[in-house]
Amino acid sequence: MPHELPKAYEPGAIETRWADYWIKEKLFSVPTPPPGETRPVFTLLLPPPNVTGRLHMGHMLNQTQMDIIVRWHRMRGFITLWLPGTDHAGIATQMMVEKQLEKEGKKRRELGREKFVERVWEWKREYGGAILDQMKRLGASVDWDREYFTMDENLSHAVREVFVRLYEEGLIYRGHYIVNWCPWHETAISDLEVKHEDVAGKLWEIRYPVVGTNEFITVATTRPETMLGDTAIAVNPRDERYTHLHGKKVLLPLMNREIPIITDELAQPEFGTGAVKVTPAHDPNDFQAGLRHKLPQIDVMDNRAHMNQNAGVYAGLDRFEARKRVLHDLREQGFLVAEKDYTVALGKCDRCGTIIEPRLSEQWFVKIQPLADRAKEAVESGEITIVPDNYRQIYLNWMNEIHDWCVSRQLWWGHRIPAWTCSNDGCKEVIVAREAPTRCAKCGGKVEQVSDVLDTWFSSGLLPFTTLGWPKKTRDQEVFYPTTLLITAYEILFFWVARMIMFGCHFMQGHEQDAAIKKSSGWGDKKNDSVPFRQVYIHALVRDAERQKMSKTKGNVIDPLEIIERFGTDATRFTLAAMAAPGTDIAFNESRTEGYRAFANKIWNAARFMFMNVDRIEPGLRAAGSHFSQVRREAAHTTAAMSIGGFQAATLEDRWILSRFNRVAADVNDALTTFRFHEAANRIYDFFWGEFCDWYLELIKPRLNSEEGADRSVAKTACANLVNLFDAALRLLHPVMPFITEEIWQAMQEGRSAVKSIALTSYPQADEKQFDLAAETEMAILQDLIVSIRNLRAELKIEPKVRVPIQVFAHEREIRSMIEANHGAVERLGNVEQITFVESTLTKLAGSRSTARFDVHVIYERKIDTVSECDRLKKELEKLDKGIGSGQRQLGNEQFLAKAPATVVENLRRQQSELALLKEKTLTKMKELGCSNGGH
Ligand SMILES: [Zn+2]
Ligand SMILES: [Zn+2]
Repeated sequence: MPHELPKAYEPGAIETRWADYWIKEKLFSVPTPPPGETRPVFTLLLPPPNVTGRLHMGHMLNQTQMDIIVRWHRMRGFITLWLPGTDHAGIATQMMVEKQLEKEGKKRRELGREKFVERVWEWKREYGGAILDQMKRLGASVDWDREYFTMDENLSHAVREVFVRLYEEGLIYRGHYIVNWCPWHETAISDLEVKHEDVAGKLWEIRYPVVGTNEFITVATTRPETMLGDTAIAVNPRDERYTHLHGKKVLLPLMNREIPIITDELAQPEFGTGAVKVTPAHDPNDFQAGLRHKLPQIDVMDNRAHMNQNAGVYAGLDRFEARKRVLHDLREQGFLVAEKDYTVALGKCDRCGTIIEPRLSEQWFVKIQPLADRAKEAVESGEITIVPDNYRQIYLNWMNEIHDWCVSRQLWWGHRIPAWTCSNDGCKEVIVAREAPTRCAKCGGKVEQVSDVLDTWFSSGLLPFTTLGWPKKTRDQEVFYPTTLLITAYEILFFWVARMIMFGCHFMQGHEQDAAIKKSSGWGDKKNDSVPFRQVYIHALVRDAERQKMSKTKGNVIDPLEIIERFGTDATRFTLAAMAAPGTDIAFNESRTEGYRAFANKIWNAARFMFMNVDRIEPGLRAAGSHFSQVRREAAHTTAAMSIGGFQAATLEDRWILSRFNRVAADVNDALTTFRFHEAANRIYDFFWGEFCDWYLELIKPRLNSEEGADRSVAKTACANLVNLFDAALRLLHPVMPFITEEIWQAMQEGRSAVKSIALTSYPQADEKQFDLAAETEMAILQDLIVSIRNLRAELKIEPKVRVPIQVFAHEREIRSMIEANHGAVERLGNVEQITFVESTLTKLAGSRSTARFDVHVIYERKIDTVSECDRLKKELEKLDKGIGSGQRQLGNEQFLAKAPATVVENLRRQQSELALLKEKTLTKMKELGCSNGGH
């Protein structure tokens, strides 16, 4: 490792090199800790990206936050496991491969199940690692040795075990249910996968003749084609308009079937005619009413939502074509009463956009209530905390309204349900088993496996324990379960987070974490260890710079890889961290990223400055390896109190920077504890750039350059302090900007370090004993004085190369002594020739500033041409008067004041007072010069 940093900071070259190094060296692999381990443990499960996924800004934010928290824990001495993997993503992956086949002119069904699944595996082998490769580029410090795929043999085995156990416990059942059916995917999908959308549509009124009378009953529908499957008309028992028709029948138009008039709460007297058609096979509410009245269920469509043989002459038609024909025929036969405009709430498949058809089908369900009760309790009792807090209530509300979970999917890609049916028509026995049965246990007949697969969220809901070896009882579970934290997006709170809580609490019931580890990790008071994680952090959305949600259709999607290409991963990570206030969406603006690239550049240049000085002051020191390796040893092994090992506070600036560093360390640790990533990042930024680079480096230059004494001890101390401080600041920054910090830190070690990475050194902790209020107060005065001088120089338009004398009046003796003691810094940084202290206030002089602590006067008399200067001032005065006049007119205008936004008026007022102040100053100057004041 060369210790010379290249002249220019090129993130691309550095970042790929270190990302590869971390993986090659297996720096983040975590072997199972043996019994007796007492160090605290931090475990985090990566929300597994879909195997079809590509990195987007949401991932990038999620990954950045996880990596910051993970690196921070690791550096604080936790045994830190971040577990990566990918999800087989049933529907998404199957669709991807189906589309690929389509291009070849092939169809899934022609290929057959076995060949198709083989094709998906092929696809997975070829493309499935893409998203993890992208993660590697980001430097995610995960344990790649533990990488899993949800269809791995061991995980699939666990899925079968869970299914069978739930079935045996009576928590899984098979039933005819109305489900959301996607005719494109030809599968059931869950409520959560349906997107609802209000669209302009029609409401049709149809009249049904009452058998044996001249009367009609009129009903309204938005889906007239489903009338072909009607099995009743419902009226409300309290609705007096229909009392005389109770028990009678109507003749179903077009189908000429007689169906009963039933009384049911399904019909609302205040709504429309008060009568409704009942279609149990095509509407969830009608389905329930059908069960109450034991009505037949007539399904009139097939898998693709084409009308089937139950639809009579309409059989074979697509549902929308059938709608047209049904309406046409109803109109022609005099049954269509009206057609009205109506807003229809359409459900669409979240993945393909096809309109959902509520459809009766045979499905497998998880009986959710017992699982949900415990999952609710886990959050209510605080066994699991959810941050930000508002998501806690959202979670609980959802748990209160939960329905049984339809877990079967009519797909080929996924975990096939471990159930077999007897093909003997007279038997039809259903066998749920861990291993495939050879024949029916009841009749000895042939058995056939159910063709459905499980909802993808079924297997991902098990990951917190299946990735740790379940159903076997393993040491990994004792150590790493419950996992510590989950960082995820709101959109999968119910899909995934809730299911993990339900499954975790159920299957890990009675589990106990290793007591010593639990205690040292800070969970000693938690009574229950069945929960899958102790804490959930829900992160915000990344929006575009105009706060618009990113979407392909809007074309405003920001590709994180492109941003990384241009500004580097470190700067991109820093942007996301610096903007990530909990509960607030991020308006991603690349000008910020550009700014943080400049920040990285600033650090780079500061490092080069440090190396230059080390080489000049003590080249032997590097060769002997004493200095840096000492820093490294302390960095790696010291505990809390030693934030900056080996730092000797010799001067005011040393005491000051040491105090400031300890304060920033306190703030950053505190911010990360409560996920205030933005505060952590901004504090580090202000410290590194503002205090360290802009002030400290400037202040110590004379000491670095000092020649006094044979051993140049002053220079050596300053140099050692610089190195120690730099090392500590790099460690502080490392979790947010892992690459540049590694590059510089490694250069400081010159390859001699026994520690392989800055990621394995210790994180700076604040030592309150190092807080030095006196040094901070004094330095604040010095900074104030120097900034005042710089401002005055700018106002007086003094050439940069001209050094000027100043006068200072200090309000207190101690302040004067302090400024005297640091006169060199003031002279150098203020470009001052000589400081004279005076005994009375200096506020009345031109070119002066005053504060509560001091007055300063910059003595500068330019030889000026009085006449032309007066001319200039006069013109200046005219300009100011004009501005003041126009402002006054605007502020005097009632109409303007009534219409203008408050901020505009406020700005105008501020502008006015600024102009007035400038005018006063100009007049004073004119008076001093003896100009005739042109009428004033
Ligand atoms: Zn679909
Ligand atoms: Zn049988």
